[in-house]
Amino acid sequence: MNAGLELSSVTLTHGDGEETVLALDAVDLSVGPGELVAVVGPSGSGKSSLLAVAGALVHADSGTVRLAGTDLSTTSRKELTRIRREEIGFVFQSGNLVPALTVLDQLRLPLTFGRVAEPRDPMALLAEVGMDHKAGRRPHQLSGGERQRVGIARALVHRPSVLLVDEPTAALDRQRSQDVVALLARETHEHGVATVMVTHDHEVLHHCDRVHEMMDGRLSEYSPA
Ligand code: ADP
Ligand code: MG
Repeated sequence: MNAGLELSSVTLTHGDGEETVLALDAVDLSVGPGELVAVVGPSGSGKSSLLAVAGALVHADSGTVRLAGTDLSTTSRKELTRIRREEIGFVFQSGNLVPALTVLDQLRLPLTFGRVAEPRDPMALLAEVGMDHKAGRRPHQLSGGERQRVGIARALVHRPSVLLVDEPTAALDRQRSQDVVALLARETHEHGVATVMVTHDHEVLHHCDRVHEMMDGRLSEYSPA
C-alpha cells in the first residue's frame, strides 16, 4: 500500500448559494514516500485548499484522498484526528512557533498531544536542522530562517508520513530560502516523507523532484514559460 499521499478527482467548493468558488477541480496528485513535490500557481488558484484537503482539515466534496493507506472520505472523525496528529506535519509561511516556548519545547509540544509511537529525539533533530546550539532560545531571539528551521523540525518530530508546506520561503531572503528548501528536500529524502510544498518562489524549484502548476483549481504539469 502506498504510504504517501494520493488524491484522485478531488473537487472542493468554497462558499454557498451564488457566491461559490470551485477551489479544486478534479485534482489528481500522487506523492510517494521520499518525494518532494512542488505546487506553483497564482494567488487564489487553490493551493492552500489543496493542502487543507490533503491535511484532513477539510473534506473534499467528491473524489478520494488516501493518506498513509487510509481513505479519508470514509474515515471516522476520531480516526481523522489521529491521522492529523500522527501522520501529518504542517509547515507554514513564517514558522508559526509558540512565542513563550523555547526552541526545544516547540519540538516537545506535539509529543504531548497524544501517543507518538517512535518520536525522533528532539535534540538530535535540532542538530540535524542546525539549531541545537539555540535550543534554549525563544522565537523572538531567532532570525526568520532560524524560525523556519525550527518549524520544519517541529513538523517532523512525530515522524509524519506526509509533510504539507505552505509558502515556506515567503518571509525569507534568497539565501535563507535556498537553505530552507534544501533542508526540506534532505529531510524528505532521508526519512521517506511524502512532501507537498506550495510556493511562489521559482528559484527553489530545482530542489524538488516534481513540479505541478495550479490554475483556477486545476492541477497540471508545470512547464516553465
Ligand atoms: P491560494 O492558496 O492558491 O491563494 P486558496 O486555496 O486559498 O488559493 O483559494 C482558492 C479560491 O477559493 C480563491 O478564489 C479563494 O478566494 C477561495 N476561498 C478560499 N478559502 C475560502 C473560504 N473559506 N470561503 C470562501 N472562499 C474561499
Ligand atoms: Mg494560499
